[in-house]
Amino acid sequence: MKNYDIIIIGAGAAGLFAASTLSKTNTVCVIDMGDEPARKVAVSGGGKCNFTNTTADYTHYFGENPNFVRSALTQFTPNDTLNWVKSHNIEFSEKTPGQYFATSAADIVTALMQDAKNAKLMLNTTVKAITKDADIFYVTTTSGTLTAKKLVVATGGISFAQLGTSDFGYKIAKQFGHKIIPPRPALCAMATKIFKSDLSGISLPVMIKINRETINDTMLFTHFGIGGPAIYRTSVRDCNNGFTINLLPDTDVFDWLKSEKQKNGKKQLKTILGTKLPERVAAFFAENNTKNIADYKDTELQEITNRLTKTTITPGSFTMHNFQSAECTRGGVDTSKISSKTMESKLCPNLYFIGEVLDIAGDLGGYNLQWAWSSAMAIK
Ligand SMILES: Cc1cc2nc3c(=O)[nH]c(=O)nc-3n(C[C@H](O)[C@H](O)[C@H](O)COP(=O)(O)OP(=O)(O)OC[C@H]3O[C@@H](n4cnc5c(N)ncnc54)[C@H](O)[C@@H]3O)c2cc1C
Repeated sequence: MKNYDIIIIGAGAAGLFAASTLSKTNTVCVIDMGDEPARKVAVSGGGKCNFTNTTADYTHYFGENPNFVRSALTQFTPNDTLNWVKSHNIEFSEKTPGQYFATSAADIVTALMQDAKNAKLMLNTTVKAITKDADIFYVTTTSGTLTAKKLVVATGGISFAQLGTSDFGYKIAKQFGHKIIPPRPALCAMATKIFKSDLSGISLPVMIKINRETINDTMLFTHFGIGGPAIYRTSVRDCNNGFTINLLPDTDVFDWLKSEKQKNGKKQLKTILGTKLPERVAAFFAENNTKNIADYKDTELQEITNRLTKTTITPGSFTMHNFQSAECTRGGVDTSKISSKTMESKLCPNLYFIGEVLDIAGDLGGYNLQWAWSSAMAIK
């Protein structure tokens, strides 16, 4: 039986980053059930890996206790990530202020592998069971049993299963007394029948109000509902109270329609709406009516205004699309019994949880990988 100081389950972003630093002073084995390491990193950011965001702080994270991220993000900051990328001579660019992408995600994977070279990497190996006896962890895998003094669980979330995911991290957590916050898809599209499926393919800038937040981004109509960055960002937040969508955020719509009624009364409403909205969206909101705008009462124009600027997506009128397409899992190992300074379990000494397996979900924009890096570096 091979003995290590530290065994890390999961060779994803968090597991490999932890391996790079821990293997400087310990014998480390990283075990992954897949045939390639860092598979999510490889596809992240559409192949360009949005590896950090310098605005990352607790306000960009969601879960039962977003404050949990504070210590780790201070110990290893987005600027530390940027310096790490620079130290590997990886080509990168700043897409929006503070949001950094690599030219190729493959370069990030190569750098992770280079840094973790002192650790033993066991691919195509699934961890099946853990036991702890006399302060030693016994790790039963499909390639035999290994032992370690410390065990790091970096098994990720359960979304995007086509890349190989498992709920094994949740099982270990439960085994050692941790609570699991029910996982759900996040950073994903939503299924809803509020809009017609024939709007599918159209994208437009919208303003979404959810709880006390305002999201300005692009929304995409899909054949099953709504998607695009605005909806992805909405999906990671607490959606229990629903949200509203404004399709003309830069227009005082009622004033505009009343003034058009005066100036262009003989034009059809859908033609007027079509000057500011894609044609099919304009027709949908004019309910394919061929009436001229002059024939609409002000109260009707007010109703149309409300539908355009405050389409309400009530809690019962949508579902998160699915785990298969979600970029992140919201929920996971409850952070209340994990040290935010070291990621060690407060219930089982020398057991650590890092990355997406925890009940921490970051916003769209590089926050999830920053969490993977920061939580990995927090291990003491
Ligand atoms: C399509 C897509 C695009 C994304 N783009 C971005 C982006 O641009 N920027 C960003 O910040 N975030 C992005 N994310 C999110 C980000 O990739 C993840 O949050 C991050 O990779 C999570 O890292 P992790 O190490 O915690 O888990 P993972 O990367 O999921 O790694 C977990 C590993 O554990 C292994 N494992 C699980 N169970 C077992 C077991 N029992 N035995 C052995 N191995 C096991 C799995 O095989 C897997 O390799 C994206 C996600 C997706 C799906």
